[in-house]
Amino acid sequence: MDAVEKLVPLAALTLFLLGAGYGQQAQQPGTAQNPAQPVPAKSEPLPQADAPITGAAKAADPATPAMNPAADPGSGSSANFADPSSDKTSTVPRQLPISSAPFDQIVDRTIAREHEYVKTLQQYSPIVETYIQDLKSDADLGSAPSSDNYFLGRLELTTQGTSQKSYLAQPGLFRSLLKRINSLYSLEFLPLGFAQMVFIDNAVFDHQHYDFAFSKREFLGDTRCVVIDLYPKKDSGNGRFLGRIWVEDQGYHVVRVNGTYTGAPHFQRYVHFDAWRLNMQPGLWLPAYIYSEESDLSYRFGTGHLKYKALTRLWGYDLKPSNQSEMTEVVADRNVKDQSEAGHDLSPVESDRAWQRLGEDNALDSLQRAGIMSAPGEVDKVLETVINNLEITNHIELQPEVRCRVMLTTPLESFSIGHTIVLSRGLIDVLPNEATLAAVLAHELAHIALGHKFDTGWAFSDRTFFPDELTFKKMSFHHKPEEETAADAKALEYLKNSPYKDQLDDVGLFMKALALREHVLPNLIQAHLGNTLMVDKGKLRMAPLENSAPQLKMRDMKQIPALPMGSRVQLDPWSDRLALMKSKPVPLLSANEKLWFEITPVFPYITRFNGGAPATAATASNATH
Ligand SMILES: [Zn+2]
Repeated sequence: MDAVEKLVPLAALTLFLLGAGYGQQAQQPGTAQNPAQPVPAKSEPLPQADAPITGAAKAADPATPAMNPAADPGSGSSANFADPSSDKTSTVPRQLPISSAPFDQIVDRTIAREHEYVKTLQQYSPIVETYIQDLKSDADLGSAPSSDNYFLGRLELTTQGTSQKSYLAQPGLFRSLLKRINSLYSLEFLPLGFAQMVFIDNAVFDHQHYDFAFSKREFLGDTRCVVIDLYPKKDSGNGRFLGRIWVEDQGYHVVRVNGTYTGAPHFQRYVHFDAWRLNMQPGLWLPAYIYSEESDLSYRFGTGHLKYKALTRLWGYDLKPSNQSEMTEVVADRNVKDQSEAGHDLSPVESDRAWQRLGEDNALDSLQRAGIMSAPGEVDKVLETVINNLEITNHIELQPEVRCRVMLTTPLESFSIGHTIVLSRGLIDVLPNEATLAAVLAHELAHIALGHKFDTGWAFSDRTFFPDELTFKKMSFHHKPEEETAADAKALEYLKNSPYKDQLDDVGLFMKALALREHVLPNLIQAHLGNTLMVDKGKLRMAPLENSAPQLKMRDMKQIPALPMGSRVQLDPWSDRLALMKSKPVPLLSANEKLWFEITPVFPYITRFNGGAPATAATASNATH
């Protein structure tokens, strides 16, 4: 094959990746932040809580607030979804239902909808992942992580009760982790910990227990909402919600819940949270993100002070827990095609390759059913393009061809299943540019090229028949330390021949930043299926590049060694499909906006279900390619 023709021009790829925040230029440092940056929203307060909401004309006011991720900080209303000149006619009809509904009626419909929601949620068993970072003051960065915690499981809500089935390897770990979270965050009476915050109040959400006050109208993304403040009535009991809810004005579904619970018994405090629901199917709004933070929560009569950030993500709503017989549900047709394509009996070598690919596909399908692996999609293709660039420049030809997939979880890990390379979403999110992505992929490519073993036992389908929560116990794809060392050395060779050879300082800087955080964020560095970014105990990958890279300059806003969590990849929580975010790099205003490896708040661009496109994929900005 002609190597030159197959090599994807680096410039083209960089351009593609630029839309997602890769390839930041030195003069334009920045991070692709979460889906949308909040633009201060203008409100239209009504004088009285029970006054009817006024007409449509006012809502079509040119000053209609917009959430625009591309807006320059401070430039306020540079919205591109609500161009007042073009949008006026289309927004007016949309507002008719609300203009005639008195506030009391809106509240009644919202209460009824929320009761339906509590019932509806019981039909689903999404994956729930909570990642927590405790913070301490930092001279250079304002604050920095000091420790972390992690939970992954399946949420189960029934009329009988609620529980979370842990995916983490040791069954005891979840209990002890939850206990630790509970004692630390004093959430004993929230049976689900952070996941409890999928509800406003699943016990008593009604006029007897709450006062409802109209606050304003506001767009979340392109979805018009009525904003309502909730106050628990006196003596309405412990655990009532105090705060604000956003209700979309067509079906009166709650979109966002921002506040805290009240009336904690002694010694305990409730934390603050900001929970978001997405329109995943027609008429169906389900929780996707819960952000929580406290900057100085005192507890135990002021003897303890808590400073943390936590993000809970929910996904996998369209999955069925696989303890039933629907084992083949998501298995694609590709195996059938592979075999018929040949048109003849397979030679022994071809059979061997086909057997390996069968094992890979079985393992991948099993992980996808368990909600651990994304559905195949566009992010895989981006990774495969980088793999292609490495293969061409290093004259590597492999059969079966190397493919890429993305694990949906936050901890930074990479591994390969036969010739399929897997990176975690969390890892892709924090990589600052294409060269660091190439470095991670080169390591896995080296394992494959060096023929490091893959257990083809997965080709026997019965081996994948186990309950989802045993996935991490039953499946492992990690390599021995000597294989890690060999792959690390080989990967360095590949990089030095590759189109990324002039950007290897970036790789070294990334590893330096990781080395600095490695001890305080053990749960982020922890690998659940593959290897961590260490080659051996305490030794990170790519040590020669780390040594030759420039010094880390904490206050230098042009030096971006790593990105915050959630910077690149957007997950459709219904279908488990991934897309690259379309938010543009934003110039940083101070060093404490560098936020490497840190949790940040989430502002999803709320849009109504539009028939199949990922519910969260749309952002207000269009990529420049
Ligand atoms: Zn490895």
